Amino acid sequence: MFKKILIANRGEIALRVIRACQEMGIATVAVHSTADSDAMHVRMADESVCIGPPPGTDSYLSVPSIVSACEVSGAEAIHPGYGFLSENAAFVQVLEDHNITFIGPSSEHIRMMGDKITAKETMRALGVPCVPGSEGGVPDLAEARRLADEMGYPVIIKATAGGGGRGMKLARSRSELDHAFQGARSEAKAAFGNDQVYIEKYLQKPRHIEIQVFGDGKGRAVHLGERDCSLQRRHQKVFEESPSPAIDAETRARIGKVCADAVGEMGYSGAGTIEFLYEDGEFYFIEMNTRLQVEHPVTEAVYRVDLVQEQIRVAAGEPMTLHQDDLTPVGHAIEVRINAEKLPEFRPSPGRIAAYHAPGGLGVRMDSALYQGYSIPPYYDSLIGKLIVHANDRPQALARLRRALGELIVDGIETTTPLFYDLLDQADIQTGDYTIHWLEKFLARKD
Ligand code: ADP
Repeated sequence: MFKKILIANRGEIALRVIRACQEMGIATVAVHSTADSDAMHVRMADESVCIGPPPGTDSYLSVPSIVSACEVSGAEAIHPGYGFLSENAAFVQVLEDHNITFIGPSSEHIRMMGDKITAKETMRALGVPCVPGSEGGVPDLAEARRLADEMGYPVIIKATAGGGGRGMKLARSRSELDHAFQGARSEAKAAFGNDQVYIEKYLQKPRHIEIQVFGDGKGRAVHLGERDCSLQRRHQKVFEESPSPAIDAETRARIGKVCADAVGEMGYSGAGTIEFLYEDGEFYFIEMNTRLQVEHPVTEAVYRVDLVQEQIRVAAGEPMTLHQDDLTPVGHAIEVRINAEKLPEFRPSPGRIAAYHAPGGLGVRMDSALYQGYSIPPYYDSLIGKLIVHANDRPQALARLRRALGELIVDGIETTTPLFYDLLDQADIQTGDYTIHWLEKFLARKD
């Protein structure tokens, strides 16, 4: 087992990894920008190294700084968390060249899944159902027109390098296609330096269902059921639950097996998530994330596992302890993302935390790097905490969420907490009757 791990991240996910290491008796190294000298992850780690000025590109995304922090501290492995360098194949390649273990899949698998066209082709070949669309990239508008006419509108133009909801444009009819095609291309070029796009049938009322998978890197893989992340604003998830109100045990076992078999066949190592749109009983693959997801705690709650400890074990070459026959979900878990944002515009609201109190009690988990007196810097993601509840069934989980929200105190800044009270009052949320468009419609109605 590793003696020392460096965590190439900040905020709640850095704490999540430090906690896993502490329980395994592994020393931890935090890295931080000058804006994060007082951050909780720096305080909680055994050692810390300053890796640069506030902007992410000069610190948490700086490969040379992180590799040298690893070398000066003597850390043998790096956990990337999510975001930042977690899906950067070039970074993983550099670590492979420096004999530093990356806690995650191989650079080859990251590269394969990071390009959405290659990912789709790979998954289709492995028997995973995909959204109908172009085979590979669409070179020009004429080809886009031909494909869209063939498929029927609406269609969506997506960047092969896309992520975070960027480089994606909807065309409801032929007259919108030109604009959507050029728009997706230029957005992709600006955001990712790659303007290759592809075209997909636009599904009108799907749910976003994702399957958690885990591979040992030697051909054995398991699935840990689904998470329903349909409640999204601007393609960003805000509320996630497991199991999905729309998936029964038989469907879970069927799609889960397809996914586990696919990643087993690939020889995939570590945690991964296969994302689908789900409509009228059919699954359509959209992408695979080759890292730990923000919403992994809902899976940990219902499957009673520690995904981060398992990632560390497998990266260290120890056998995977997960076995499909033992993996049965128990009860119901919900996560809500607490962002430092002012409603109703979701405007960033950084600032000093005048008071902080985390909810507790049976079935409540609060993953957050906040503390009283902490100043949230304006440079990074607005996620400041994840509140996760687990109970015997969905109605009890909803009741527990309401109770836990009532205990949460974050004074001094604005947060998205009021939105969750609002959601809990909605009949559709209580019954689980929502699609990926539900939240946008709900927010538009309120304006
Ligand atoms: P990103 O990597 O930018 O998050 P995804 O491919 O995961 O992009 O898609 C993000 C979201 O966009 C999905 O959860 C869904 O809400 C919407 N979306 C993507 N593809 C389609 C499609 N073919 N039809 C309808 N909605 C889609």
